Amino acid sequence: MTRLRAELLALAEALVNYESPSSAKAHCDLLADHIAERFAPLGTVERYANPTGGDHLRVSVAAPAAPPAAQPALILCHYDTVWPVGTLADRPLRVVGDTAYGPGLYDMKISIAMAELALRTLRETGQPLARPLTLLFTADEEIGSPTSRALIEQTAQACAHVLVLEPPVERTGALKTARKGCGAFTLDLRGRAAHAGVEPEQGRSAVTELAHQILALNALADPTCGTTVNVGVVKGGTGRNVVPAEAQLELDVRVWTQAEAARMEAACHALTPVTPEVQLVVRGGFNRPPMESSPASAALFARVQAIGATLGLTLAEGRTGGGSDGNFTAALGLPTLDGLGAPGQGAHATHEQVDLPGALTRLALLTALLERL
Ligand SMILES: [Zn+2]
Repeated sequence: MTRLRAELLALAEALVNYESPSSAKAHCDLLADHIAERFAPLGTVERYANPTGGDHLRVSVAAPAAPPAAQPALILCHYDTVWPVGTLADRPLRVVGDTAYGPGLYDMKISIAMAELALRTLRETGQPLARPLTLLFTADEEIGSPTSRALIEQTAQACAHVLVLEPPVERTGALKTARKGCGAFTLDLRGRAAHAGVEPEQGRSAVTELAHQILALNALADPTCGTTVNVGVVKGGTGRNVVPAEAQLELDVRVWTQAEAARMEAACHALTPVTPEVQLVVRGGFNRPPMESSPASAALFARVQAIGATLGLTLAEGRTGGGSDGNFTAALGLPTLDGLGAPGQGAHATHEQVDLPGALTRLALLTALLERL
């Protein structure tokens, strides 16, 4: 176990040492080079050029012992992080007792190391894969996957099931069979400027209208079915003594079901101004569909739970309001299980950390899944 722990940490540290914020193409491409090099001995690596961020990688691993018609399993990992270049200088990877810290380690560079180590372990012990394996290492998950979505969906169509190596539910360690869908909208309001003292009656306040719209948006939330609305950013006005001609807001919407996504999308685009002569333009929509609980994903979870039980693991089923690339594959109807990364806490926060004994346990689970699922 100590040797595996040292190997896992060494692989993870090498990944963390390449800083890879989604927007920094040159930095991300260096990490893509590194990952491609690490996986080249294990499978066929294809590289998909991305002009706006890091290139995406697809690795295909054959399974000569599997039935000829066996569909591949798909593993989803992203290698971009939310941490800007320079973070590493302040917070290099460090280990305190059984806890490892480092920018992007938990979300989700440790998972890339786990995938490599699982494949290498099977190869070294001569254990065949249950079915071929496809791995995607994408570079824009943290910004909603605009350039990798088509590749993810097209790859997933040919696969039997999808294993997403995002972290499990914090504290409980539960695997995820449901995630909320995420909507992102902006509202632009245009009124008419006027002097607040001389002729305020000539003005049409975009800021007052913004207030009406915020209350209308909040009223669209539905706590009984988990639909939430958050006006996260508001802007407007140019000076205290000017009737504001322009205002804008940014809205985040989360839903558990496709039906709620459709309701919210329609409602947002149907908003109308209350103030006469103020114009309203609504933009946006759902960038990730909800990962709805489905019989297919429940069945996949049950099989993984049974395999975990043979390793002495008690695996629970959970859900989260955050989205991932698993939302895309689940929406296509593919059995999708998320949260198969390492336990820990603090995703996107400076205390981001991985529990190393937990990571080794999940590494053993992942290795067993590749061999048996
Ligand atoms: Zn992630």
